[in-house]
Amino acid sequence: MTATVIDGKAFAAKVRGLVQAQVASLIEVQGITPGLAVVLVGEDPASQVYVRNKHASTIEVGMASFEHRLAADTSEADLLALIHRLNADAKVHGILVQLPLPGHLNSELIINTIDPAKDVDGFHISNVGLLGTGQKSMVPCTPLGCLMMLRDHHGSLSGLSAVVVGRSNIVGKPMAQLLLGDSCTVTIAHSRTKDLAAVCRGADILVAAVGRPEMITGDFVKPGATVIDVGINRIERDGKAKLVGDVHYASAAAVAGAITPVPGGVGPMTIACLLANTLTACCRANGLPEPVGLTA
Ligand code: NDP
Repeated sequence: MTATVIDGKAFAAKVRGLVQAQVASLIEVQGITPGLAVVLVGEDPASQVYVRNKHASTIEVGMASFEHRLAADTSEADLLALIHRLNADAKVHGILVQLPLPGHLNSELIINTIDPAKDVDGFHISNVGLLGTGQKSMVPCTPLGCLMMLRDHHGSLSGLSAVVVGRSNIVGKPMAQLLLGDSCTVTIAHSRTKDLAAVCRGADILVAAVGRPEMITGDFVKPGATVIDVGINRIERDGKAKLVGDVHYASAAAVAGAITPVPGGVGPMTIACLLANTLTACCRANGLPEPVGLTA
């Protein structure tokens, strides 16, 4: 069997198109421009690239982008004061603090100071609780992107068996909650799971969020299963820098029914979902109906 490739790049372009159309209508009909504020503390090179990409994508869909670049030695008090200002700013509908923060800053305190209604990363403890209890929340972008691709590919996910490898707060746990919300039978696997390959072979949907290059090989995959590879790992092979996922693509694609590639799978969906969440936050803040096709 050769798996169908789930093209995250194309799907993300479709999502951005949906966002752009609904932003244009918000501006024209309501006179409201959704706005996203991104806060970057320090000069971490990877974070700078992410923030640049987020800014460009925000502008591209017609939203307002507010960038706040702060020095690496910014005090916690100054950062909290900025978050309070952004919480109170009616032009700002979404706030994202780029992680990781420098070590002297308490990330949990910073994230939990963001107004939950503007927490477009979905990391605020209130949003975690709302998602866990099946209530309307802001949903973390990467798992939301995975869910959208799965729904698009399968239609209904009800009754399917899903295994999520990884139990982080930003990917594994919210992914599992979302799959449960769509009535999958969910198993969360992690570094202490016994016979991981056998657990994974029980999955109709296998989500890999491990952070270990190409760990999930074809013998972990049930024939015909859908494999979602969240991993982004930079490795060197044959003297060249290469980006690979947590899934060994060639061997998994030979067994799976469908698979996301790296790059071009989950990655592009993450920014698309950040834009979707900002639009959702804007609609909710203004008492307008939820945007169509862009929420969990
Ligand atoms: P974390 O390091 O926070 O979590 C990794 C998880 O994998 C942990 O729960 C860990 O288990 C589990 N794990 C580690 N080793 C093994 C093993 N040998 N067998 C089984 N489970 C194992 O990573 P994140 O969740 O933040 O990220 C996961 C991957 O997704 C990374 O490659 C990251 O770069 C990528 N990522 C991609 C995004 C995108 O936009 N596409 C966004 C965010 C992340 P335990 O808890 O027991 O230690």
